[in-house]
Amino acid sequence: MAKKQEVKNMAIRVRFAPSPTGPLHIGGSRTALFNYLFAKKNKGKFVLRVEDTDKERSEQRWTDEILEELKWLGIEWDEGPDIGGNFGPYKQTQRLDIYKKYLEKLFDEEKAYYCFCLEEDLEAKRQDQMSRGLAPKYDGKCRNLSKQEVQKKMAAGEQSVIRFKIPDKKVKFADLIRGEIEFDAGLLGDIVVAKNLETPLYHFAVVVDDFEMKISHIIRGEEHLSNTSRQILIQQALEFYHPVYAHLPLMLNMDKSKMSKRQGDVALKDYHLQGYLPEALVNFMVLLGWNPGTEKEIFTLQQLTKEFSIDKVQKAGAVFNIQRLDFINGFYIREKAIEKLTEFCRPYLKEAGLLVQGQVSDSKLEKIVEVSRTRMKKLSDIVELADFFFKDKLVYDKDLLKWSTMQDAGVKEALLLCDKLLSDLKEWDIKEIEKVLMGGTGELNKQRGYPEKNRGFLLWPLRVALSGKQFSPSPFEIADILGREKTQKRIADAIKLFA
Ligand code: GLU
Repeated sequence: MAKKQEVKNMAIRVRFAPSPTGPLHIGGSRTALFNYLFAKKNKGKFVLRVEDTDKERSEQRWTDEILEELKWLGIEWDEGPDIGGNFGPYKQTQRLDIYKKYLEKLFDEEKAYYCFCLEEDLEAKRQDQMSRGLAPKYDGKCRNLSKQEVQKKMAAGEQSVIRFKIPDKKVKFADLIRGEIEFDAGLLGDIVVAKNLETPLYHFAVVVDDFEMKISHIIRGEEHLSNTSRQILIQQALEFYHPVYAHLPLMLNMDKSKMSKRQGDVALKDYHLQGYLPEALVNFMVLLGWNPGTEKEIFTLQQLTKEFSIDKVQKAGAVFNIQRLDFINGFYIREKAIEKLTEFCRPYLKEAGLLVQGQVSDSKLEKIVEVSRTRMKKLSDIVELADFFFKDKLVYDKDLLKWSTMQDAGVKEALLLCDKLLSDLKEWDIKEIEKVLMGGTGELNKQRGYPEKNRGFLLWPLRVALSGKQFSPSPFEIADILGREKTQKRIADAIKLFA
């Protein structure tokens, strides 16, 4: 068994301890990120531990997904179930003999006992306590059963659990984020720490592992705050050191209500699949509670390993503002090397049936992504922003072709002029296309008495004819990408609408 020591003399070691009972949530990823950054900043170690003691609800596929998503974010661990380490194994179901040893220690010191109370009786007592305005708590019925009574019940096959004797006292601890916290253990009642010697429950396994793995700091979500009291009492009973705690602020919806797992997209994977980039999510998540104290909003993971500090984590709830995420993601999309961004967009276009193998060259696809990226908030937006490049026929309302006061005849005239100017063009090159069309706007405006500088009378109908959309890249960029034949075909199709 490891020895008790003072946490202040210990090397910095933190852990992220997900339960593989579902996907990794944004809240969990934020916890992992803060632990990772704290370890990096303080030259400590970041441990990944899989808490799979709940056998019914834990699944290997969730463990796999959690590990994959963390890696995708760029959060790497120094020790974990896949890579091992000096304090393994890192999966709780592989550590049952360790917990057993400590459960036996509790029994030896009479700090735990077998409880044979039936669930329905406990429930009835809880109801009764609540109806009398009392906080429900176990009444200690089995606390003083004699050894013989226990043996008799066991021999008779009565179901039992292991309860930990909660001492009646006040406990204090200093939370790095929330300050001094005091609680009255007397309110708790003896808690169940294991189903039997081979089956510990969460509170017990966590305490033993944090001790055995020499964890110095426990950084986790505020929803665990009430668990901390129970866990400190178990630490005291086992004569363990107390790690330093830091409870991260709750995540709130825009209306300040508490974010719950049941609402919309809280799984990190959902954001991943929609096309939020890992660097954007990291940047966004760190701002969910960490306040750098400046206006600066863009931080890379690398920068954060130097700039992050736990003292700047706020107590108040952190509002999950999707517009901020979109803004940050848009920033990283615009920063990405075009080859990479194109590679990232490709699956979305394929999935939408727009990109068929071999139909569009790599260089053309890069151009399409390049002209679309300023409007992209997430990768999946590419489908809606760029679909018209891939379609044979566009469908749109012909009134969309009209700019300002234009009527049918005016649109037709403008499109015919575009067609003529482009037909006369010798070389299909974006600069040439732009030059000749810009010249055309002057010509048309003069002839028709349109305001001199207003280019919309020529370029708007053309742009809509080429894209079928109210908003799109410029007609020069679109024409350049479509090529002469498709461009002229689209202009002809638009003219036909006014036949
Ligand atoms: N396994 C726990 C959970 O996923 C976290 C335990 C802890 O951080 O202490 O909620």
